Amino acid sequence: MIFATLIKQLLHKPATNPFPVKYMPKSVTGLLGKVARGEARINPPVPVPTDLRGKLTYDRDKCIGCQLCIKVCPANVIMFKPDEKKIRIHVARCTFCHQCVDICPTGALGLSNEFLLADTDRFSPNLIVE
Ligand code: SF4
Ligand code: SF4
Repeated sequence: MIFATLIKQLLHKPATNPFPVKYMPKSVTGLLGKVARGEARINPPVPVPTDLRGKLTYDRDKCIGCQLCIKVCPANVIMFKPDEKKIRIHVARCTFCHQCVDICPTGALGLSNEFLLADTDRFSPNLIVE
């Protein structure tokens, strides 16, 4: 019985995407190339609630460099860039608590619905917002 189940599982296509698929080397899987040619399909992400707290968004032009977001952030995620009077956000440490968004006086910060943030490098450009 167990052997039959094992064989069945081996012959089944996986129900999930390799994850995080965007970082898998094409030389190993060829998956992204196949997707681009329409020969394979990546399962679409699940629908998310409209008020999901996902990756932070930052509008540099609206930012006045007041640093209030830095003061309220409980996880020390936000760094100040004194030369530019702007900020850098290290998303890998963010707890998505929304406090920086609430306190920002100009509405420069927001939380998007992007939640597929897994990465092998916490300093990857995907996880830095500035
Ligand atoms: S959402 Fe919370 S943890 Fe993330 S940067 Fe803002 S204040 Fe910090
Ligand atoms: S609270 Fe808003 S305006 Fe102030 S530094 Fe942070 S992002 Fe910029």
